[in-house]
Order: sequence, then C-alpha cells, then structure tokens
Amino acid sequence: MKRIFLSSPHMSGNEQKYIQEAFDLNWVAPLGNNVDQFEKDLATYNHMEGASVLTSGTAAIHIALRLLEVAEGDKVFCSSLTFIASANPILYQGADPVFIDSEPDTWNMSPQALERAFQDAESEGQLPKAVIIVNLYGQSAKIEELKEICDRYEVAIIEDAAESLGSEYKGKKSGTFGKFGIYSFNGNKIITTSGGGALVSNDIEALNKSRFLATQARDQAIHYQHSELGYNYRMSNIVAGIGRAQLKVLDDRVAKRRAIFDNYVEAFKDQPGFDFMPELEETKSNRWLTALTINPEAAGITNMDIIHSLGNENIEARPVWKPLHLQPLFEDAKYYSHEEGYSYSDELFKYGLCLPSGSNMTEEQQNRVIHTIKKLM
Ligand SMILES: *Cc1c(COP(=O)(O)O)cnc(C)c1O
Repeated sequence: MKRIFLSSPHMSGNEQKYIQEAFDLNWVAPLGNNVDQFEKDLATYNHMEGASVLTSGTAAIHIALRLLEVAEGDKVFCSSLTFIASANPILYQGADPVFIDSEPDTWNMSPQALERAFQDAESEGQLPKAVIIVNLYGQSAKIEELKEICDRYEVAIIEDAAESLGSEYKGKKSGTFGKFGIYSFNGNKIITTSGGGALVSNDIEALNKSRFLATQARDQAIHYQHSELGYNYRMSNIVAGIGRAQLKVLDDRVAKRRAIFDNYVEAFKDQPGFDFMPELEETKSNRWLTALTINPEAAGITNMDIIHSLGNENIEARPVWKPLHLQPLFEDAKYYSHEEGYSYSDELFKYGLCLPSGSNMTEEQQNRVIHTIKKLM
C-alpha cells in the first residue's frame, strides 16, 4: 500500500518554467527576478505594502524579533500550542518566552490569559517587547480581541501565519494584522518552495532592513564592511521561482483542503466523541490540516489508537502539537493558562488528532483513511 502522508508537496507543473528562466539568465544565485517578483506577488496577494522572502519561516520570526529590538533579558509572549519554530527565535535573541494558553473557539491564543499575563508584566515593571500570535492549522486566532489588548499596552504583534497562508479573518488575509506577519514554505505547508519563508509588513523601511540583515548586514561600501550583526537568510532565486508558480495555485489548494475537511466531517458526523476543530464566525480557515479531538469515553477509542491503526496501514497521522510550556526545552518558562488551574492546550494535546490533509490526496486515499478508522469503531 502506497504511503499516505499528513501533508506532502503538491507541485502545479509550472515551477520548472521559472527555474528555467533563472538558468537561462544565469540568475541561479544569489538574487534576481524571481526573488523580486515573488516578493511583489506575495504582497499583492495579501494586500500588504511589501514582503521580504527568506530561507525559512523560522528566519522570518528571528528577523521580526531583531527589527523589534528584542534583546537579552527581554520578555516575549507567545502562543503555547504551536510548533517549536514559533519560539526558538526568542531563545536565539537571549530573550525569555512567556507562553499563553489556547481558548476553545479557535484553539489559539486566549485573550483572557493574555490579559492576565500583561497585568502581571505591568505590575512587575517589565512589559514584553513583542507578542507572537499563532494561527494553528489555518484557523485565525481571535485577532480583534488580542489586538485590542496589545494596542492598549502598546506592544507589537508578530502574526505567525506559517500554517494559515490563504486563510481570512473578517475579509482580510491571515498574517496581515500585526506589525509583522510571517509565512513558511516548508515542504509540508499549504504551498512549498522546498523550504523558505517570508516576512510581510506595511513598513517598507523595516522590510529593507530585513533584506539588509538577511544578507550579512553589509554596509554601503565597495569593500566588505559591517557595523551590525547579520545573517545569511535570503531566499535564492531558484527557490523563489518555485514560489511564484505555487502562489498561483494557492486558492485552489485552500479549496481542496477545505473539501477534504468537509469530507471527514461528513464521514464521521454520526460518530460520538469526534469533535472537529471549529471555524470562528467571519473567518475562513485554509484547513491546512484536518484536526479534531477524540473523547475516549464517548468514542470508545483514543486518538493514539487511531494513530497506531492508521500507521499499520501505512498512513501518517499525528497528535496535535505538544504545547511549548510542556516541552523540556522551556521548562523554566512562565505560562498563563486559559483559566486559573485549567489549561485548555493540555486537553487538546491529550485528545487531539491530525488526519492526512494534503491537497494531492485522491478520493480513494481519503476513503482508505476513513475506512481504516471506521473498522476500529
Ligand atoms: C512551519 C512552522 C514554522 C516555521 O517555518 P519553517 O519554514 O519550517 O522554518 C513556524 N511556525 C509554525 C506555526 C509552523 O507551523
């Protein structure tokens, strides 16, 4: 049986055209037309002033923290229920992460937990330098409520939209609500360049600074001169060519992933104990991954039972992300739960399940997943 992946690269067929163009012009490296054009296309798609394309989404978060002057001893608030890449750059800067729990309507950052974290930070006399808000599995966080709190304390938002490119919140594209938004084009994301990321913003000067920092912070001089610490983070012209072709099919990919989600919902609609990830009113999720919780008492099986039986059929499934406040790497970090003494992300981790959701899945493959789970019931 051919392996079914959680989310695998799905090429459109036009990627080679842009790569060939780079070869023909010998713009194989470092920069060139594909980079410039991919930055423009990304900005246009998201209705933003500009974009700076980079080697990864992690690099984009790192640059955003640098642009906000996050330094040693500073605090940064960050969603707890996310992939480790959201928070690693906080450590790169020698700053201290403070993790914020999820709430039930979006599985994303809880406004009431964020409020408590800010109240404590204020009374301790040290506000955070930035708040990293993650849009998990494509679903936007409660941006308006979270933004109101951050604006009141005058702290900048970095919207980690690595998983939510193409999603919408009240008619606006995901990743466009903070001072900075970041996207990822890693191999498992909704579109991929094989690896890559982007920073978007309406601050053109900051984006120019991003390009400067990402190319070793080279001063304007014919000799190599440097007055600031920089990185080698800029995307190559070959990789950007893949991105140009992928971005053209993004809306098709969103439609396909949403259809896969609907198919799973329909298949398990009469199944007690299966609760699919909600979609907040006035938002549209790209449904990057179909996520749900399995209540073992009602369902008679656990999420891990499902993961193991799918594994036996050569099908990849996973629990939801292990929250960062539970990670050994962050055992000393502060954490604010949704309610005092009640952590919602712990519950999502315990019962959560992600099903194969790639836009290149065939109907027969989806049926294989559904049938394997139904056999267990
Ligand atoms: C994938 C991902 C990232 C990091 O992107 P890379 O391009 O792999 O560095 C950051 N945050 C979240 C939530 C992600 O899922």
